[in-house]
Amino acid sequence: MLILGAGAAGLFCALEAGKRGRRVAVIEHADRIGKKILISGGGRCNFTNIHTTPQNFHSANPDFARSALARFTPRDFLALVKQHRIPYHEKTLGQLFCDNSASDITNLLESECRAARVQIFLNTRIAEASRTSEFILRSGSNEFRAPALIVATGGLSIPKMGATSFGYDLARQFGHNIIPTRPALVPLLFHRTDQQRYSALAGVSTEVIASSGKNSFREKMLFTHRGLSGPAILQISSYWNGAQPIHLDLAPDRDATAALRSSSQRNLTITLKALQQFFPNRFAERWLQFHAPADYTNSSLAAFENQLHDWTLIPAGTEGYEKAEVTTGGVDTRELSSKSMESRLVPGLFFIGEVVDVTGHLGGFNFQWAWASASAAARSL
Ligand SMILES: Cc1cc2nc3c(=O)[nH]c(=O)nc-3n(C[C@H](O)[C@H](O)[C@H](O)COP(=O)(O)OP(=O)(O)OC[C@H]3O[C@@H](n4cnc5c(N)ncnc54)[C@H](O)[C@@H]3O)c2cc1C
Repeated sequence: MLILGAGAAGLFCALEAGKRGRRVAVIEHADRIGKKILISGGGRCNFTNIHTTPQNFHSANPDFARSALARFTPRDFLALVKQHRIPYHEKTLGQLFCDNSASDITNLLESECRAARVQIFLNTRIAEASRTSEFILRSGSNEFRAPALIVATGGLSIPKMGATSFGYDLARQFGHNIIPTRPALVPLLFHRTDQQRYSALAGVSTEVIASSGKNSFREKMLFTHRGLSGPAILQISSYWNGAQPIHLDLAPDRDATAALRSSSQRNLTITLKALQQFFPNRFAERWLQFHAPADYTNSSLAAFENQLHDWTLIPAGTEGYEKAEVTTGGVDTRELSSKSMESRLVPGLFFIGEVVDVTGHLGGFNFQWAWASASAAARSL
């Protein structure tokens, strides 16, 4: 069998299939395996999340991921990490990171592949794929043939790391529908007025609830020179359709003006002091510069408080694939088996990992999908 892409999903599928006695070749156009794994989690790879549930993923077909996730769980991957004596820790919210380096995970995958006699071809660019009685991939004068082809070419994010649209193109070539792709887990950009107002806050971070439609995330938000980032913003970016507003509760569960409302002394200085108890100074000052209460009546203070809990922004856009951690959309899951990831249109053709229209939240869920979908395919091969 041929696996296209030596990233998280491709390598994991290769080693699982190899362990089952299959002859496996992995074809990778980059000069080394698992480049994205190496830069993941700030270099420490958030390799899974122990609280993974199907609700941590989105897709045009939300139930699709359920079966694969149930059959290969975070505990299963953790067992392998422990077997390789890789030191790890839980950071927050069930996120497991390597203590030392993400290369512990690529070393794990590489040594398991070696033990399972998987052949890995690096620097191999496939120009053309076709199918007769088997799949044929051509790279220069080389030809690879096999009865099964597993496409694990990932998404479009970070093109300089080797991301290509080859997987989507190949899916289309074989008649598959592609759910439109978008950068996700990506910083958002301000429009000009907001940028002029808030770019001076670059580096300031505060806890917020970021919402878009029915989805909301309570985590830190970070101001950047061009817009907003931080976990809450990255999470909500995956649900942003490019047009609707984002709502930000800047003071979740807090009543920033309570003391002010119960006092007879009400002015700008006292309002600033009240905000400084809840927010970084730079933010409190800048917010008041543009949103100071019209006067200090109870109703003005209530309106001021309400605005803190519902700052409504329409971003100008996102930082794009250059900065996105993942790609939403991809191979339409309605044309794949949820049990094996095999195409319902072309027997022997499989799609796994990020190229599929399943996108995880921030926090180790995308690697868990890579492992789980890879394992589902390997079990059926
Ligand atoms: C900066 C950053 C940090 C991240 N941190 C985390 C994290 O901590 N935790 C987490 O869960 N997720 C994280 N992610 C997301 C995670 O890296 C991906 O979801 C995951 O790598 C997807 O696995 P994959 O195997 O499907 O694709 P990839 O890992 O992207 O692998 C695809 C492989 O296919 C190869 N390829 C592409 N086109 C071709 C072609 N035409 N021919 C041959 N080979 C090809 C690529 O070179 C690549 O090696 C992060 C992503 C980024 C960008």
